Amino acid sequence: MIDPVPDIELNDGTQIPQLGFGVYQVDPAETGQAVSTALQTGYRHVDTAASYRNERQVGEAVRAAGDSAYVTTKYLSPTDDHGAQDAKEAFARSFDRLGLDRVDLYLIHFPVEAGDGYTAAWRALSELRGDGRLRSIGVSNFTPQQLGRVVDDTGVTPAINQIELHPYFQQAELRREHVERGITTEAWGPLGQGAVLDDPVLREIAEAHGKTVSQVVLRWHLQLGIVVIPKSVTPSRIRENFDVFDFRLAEDEMRAIEQLDRPDGRVGIDPHTFAFPKERVDEE
Ligand code: NDP
Repeated sequence: MIDPVPDIELNDGTQIPQLGFGVYQVDPAETGQAVSTALQTGYRHVDTAASYRNERQVGEAVRAAGDSAYVTTKYLSPTDDHGAQDAKEAFARSFDRLGLDRVDLYLIHFPVEAGDGYTAAWRALSELRGDGRLRSIGVSNFTPQQLGRVVDDTGVTPAINQIELHPYFQQAELRREHVERGITTEAWGPLGQGAVLDDPVLREIAEAHGKTVSQVVLRWHLQLGIVVIPKSVTPSRIRENFDVFDFRLAEDEMRAIEQLDRPDGRVGIDPHTFAFPKERVDEE
């Protein structure tokens, strides 16, 4: 089978498959099956995190499929103060749970302003990169100001900022900042966690192409050059979300979707009010 998924080149010279498979809120008992279905469908990129508590199952499914998928995981501080040592130890635990030759991308899951804040963790990630176990490093839920701070502090630009992004919450200003800094935008909640799927404008565009709303939304992300990681535990939807390479949205359709942006469009966790857990979030 010809692989239809384009690779995007990151600022460190590595490549990431533009369409991946997310496993947030996927029960560990269901994760193996969901990831195996995704890999059989043709996805070759999986997005997990220590706090999802399903890294072990992701690693097993990736190994069973021949160990060739691109895997992202994330560091979430157990307190409100990221420490360099804590980040390094957390990476070692994620690496062991995944059981793969290497982690392709490791992200700081949320920034925190307290104490040394995220800069100490970013320095730790910069040191980890290149030790053979980790290829690329990035961040998630960072603002332009926070991106500026880590770059100024270390001279190392994150390869990716993974942010909430969908037709109701388009983050145009942050995306422009990414372009200026050479950071790739990755969308979490690309379907608005389901919130955009009944939209009448999207439905009309979908009907015109004989596609579903979910497929239109994923196509929109792809045409904007965004890395996108839809989640589903439903095999038919996992396949549907991959079947997005046989049509193209016209300019006027892209513009119509641009108009759907809303000031109150956020549906997921707000990083500005995120409550950091008091204890370690990952398994032993
Ligand atoms: P998504 O926007 O991917 O939406 C997932 C929801 O949409 C699920 O309820 C799923 O249902 C449903 N769905 C999926 N495909 C279809 C379809 N074709 N038709 C109808 N419904 C559909 O939300 P997520 O929050 O899961 O985001 C994707 C990934 O992003 C996560 O899994 C995770 O990897 C990452 N993420 C990162 C965050 C961060 O802070 N860095 C925060 C949140 C997510 P069902 O599963 O029942 O089929």
